[in-house]
Amino acid sequence: MSDPVLDLINKNNLAFSVSGRDYLIKCLSPDHEDSNPSFRIDKVTGIAHCFSCGFKTNLFKYYGVFTNPVPIKIAALKEKLAELSRGNLGLELPAGHTPYLKQFRGISPQTLKYFGAFYTNQVEKLQDRIIFPIKDITTKIVVFVGRHTLSNGNPRYINYPSGVRMPVFPSHLPSGYPSMVIVEGVFDMLNLYDKGLENVVCSFGTNTLQNDTKQKLLPFKAQGITHIYLLFDGDEAGDKAAKALKPLIEAENFIVEIIRIRKSTDSEELKKADN
Ligand SMILES: [Zn+2]
Repeated sequence: MSDPVLDLINKNNLAFSVSGRDYLIKCLSPDHEDSNPSFRIDKVTGIAHCFSCGFKTNLFKYYGVFTNPVPIKIAALKEKLAELSRGNLGLELPAGHTPYLKQFRGISPQTLKYFGAFYTNQVEKLQDRIIFPIKDITTKIVVFVGRHTLSNGNPRYINYPSGVRMPVFPSHLPSGYPSMVIVEGVFDMLNLYDKGLENVVCSFGTNTLQNDTKQKLLPFKAQGITHIYLLFDGDEAGDKAAKALKPLIEAENFIVEIIRIRKSTDSEELKKADN
């Protein structure tokens, strides 16, 4: 496996030792006579600082090396995700949870199973609902989203527990995609996935992703996603939300395109094939 940071250290004949996730060398600052190595270099990113004099740099920058930063960034993001998932236990599946094995609103049992759909009649709030465990970027369950199985059921959706900050879901796509589509609702996502579009995620509403955009998109950056397509409802609210969200996602260094669908069309209705 290539190790660009170590390669650079060796190429410049720097004496080093390994200290946890860092390489330890003598300080590179010209102003610091460092007899006892105080300079830590992150093994993955090359980000370096001296804990004696405070000198900071990145080893690649320091040596003026042109390097493809993408694999390094991705490795760093994966480490960050692993760090975030430590100590986060997530929610347990509720009492009486039973896999949902039927078709629902034209979505195949296979797709429902893939996303962990279940039902329970032992939790009052979740009764008569098809429920999805929603996992955050650390792959732990943070909330259950339940959709009423009766067409006149009210409210149509509940989040259980309520008040949880909704992540982008799913947070992991089948590998190898450079792009993904973001839709508003979980059933928009399920419908598209069911019809064969694998790299689709939902943001749980048009405004949710405007908060914590960076963190919510972190796992996708770590998976190598560079292009994001926004497919919100074709009404005025959807259009406005997509336009507001675009620059926020662009600020995270994704290339963003808004996909327009016919005006006044609820994308769930549009994509619902046969129900
Ligand atoms: Zn120093």
